[in-house]
Amino acid sequence: MQLDGKRIAVIGAGIGGLAVARALALRGADVTVFEQAAGIVEVGAGLQISPNGFAVLAALGLAAALRSERGTAVQLCDYRGAEVLRLDLGRLTRAEYHFVHRADLIALLAEGARAAGVRMRLLQKVTGLQPGARPRIETASGACFEADLVIGADGLHSVARTVLDGAAAPFFTRQVAWRALIPNHAGRGPKVRLHMGPLRHVVSYPLREGSLLNLVAVQERAAWTSESWSQTDDPQALRAAFADFGSEVRDMLAAVETVHLWGLFRHRVARVWQRDGVAILGDAAHPTLPFMAQGACMALEDAWVLADALSRAGTLAGGLARYQARREGRVRRVVAAASRNAWKYHLAAPPLRWAAHAALRLGGALAPERMIRQFDWIYAHDVTREAA
Ligand SMILES: Cc1cc2nc3c(=O)[nH]c(=O)nc-3n(C[C@H](O)[C@H](O)[C@H](O)COP(=O)(O)OP(=O)(O)OC[C@H]3O[C@@H](n4cnc5c(N)ncnc54)[C@H](O)[C@@H]3O)c2cc1C
Repeated sequence: MQLDGKRIAVIGAGIGGLAVARALALRGADVTVFEQAAGIVEVGAGLQISPNGFAVLAALGLAAALRSERGTAVQLCDYRGAEVLRLDLGRLTRAEYHFVHRADLIALLAEGARAAGVRMRLLQKVTGLQPGARPRIETASGACFEADLVIGADGLHSVARTVLDGAAAPFFTRQVAWRALIPNHAGRGPKVRLHMGPLRHVVSYPLREGSLLNLVAVQERAAWTSESWSQTDDPQALRAAFADFGSEVRDMLAAVETVHLWGLFRHRVARVWQRDGVAILGDAAHPTLPFMAQGACMALEDAWVLADALSRAGTLAGGLARYQARREGRVRRVVAAASRNAWKYHLAAPPLRWAAHAALRLGGALAPERMIRQFDWIYAHDVTREAA
């Protein structure tokens, strides 16, 4: 389909929204992004962008300008600090595994979108959406906008998903995640370290030329926490929750001054991703638990495939259908893998934990290549080269 001059509205200037805006504008579409926030800013936090996500940034012409640390290894450690398994990221089929500050990725994508001619409308909270031959959005300020296509890239609490797929009923997984940034005083190199303890784990890796460490600490607990990235917590509560971990973790947590707390919820993948001139992508279509570090990468993949499918199809409806067909199976598999992963890190009973760690050690010693290549189905997949 000729995208030249097609009027496209994107709801949400997050990772998926900005990526699809650039991808479509580069193909000639007339794209406007509606973002509820006053600015395109992000709470400080890190993201792991694995080779499959990086491939999309490269295809969008943004890889060279990405401010990132290139990861060399993932180390799984016991909660006291002993190394259990080291995965050498250099053994990946494509060793483009990056640690990125969210704010840097968003700034790069926003700059890329603007450079391609995308218009940004800030302080525009979309409150209404009508699919149809000329789909229409309404904003809280009373403005209306008609387009050929509306893309809901509006994240976890998506208005567009509700219109397409009905109200979601996520459930609390009885896990919470704290997120914090601290100075990298220990001079940690570009490796992910994952400390696994009973019912808890801590992930840490460096950002911004190694000046910062990104921390994500997950705990299983009954007390409910809302699914919001803006909720803060007392750093003392975080330190208390991991007080029995080894000195490396305790030292990192001692340096935390500000911390966000986030409830982890399971959402079902949407059944309807598109109809009547409306499509959803990223967290709007398939929020995932963070245990495969793939949410942002899936949003990038969706963005590329949606633009690609539309430009190859004869009609808008055909392009939208092809988009869902190309994405749904892979996304369901990744979301399921992330949902399965937490318990592996959190084994509580000591005999079970020792046995699991011994198996990992053995696997790392006997078949290091196989241990890392088991993730090839995720990391080596390149949507920018897949058969359309
Ligand atoms: C603890 C944690 C760690 C993570 N680690 C990783 C990782 O290492 N690697 C990885 O790939 N992913 C990771 N993720 C997941 C990743 O952050 C998300 O999957 C990703 O940000 C989804 O992108 P998106 O564009 O779909 O949505 P978002 O980035 O959430 O963007 C949605 C945008 O829409 C706007 N919006 C919402 N509603 C409206 C409205 N009604 N009107 C207008 N604008 C609206 C929002 O303000 C926002 O700007 C992590 C997530 C968490 C919480």
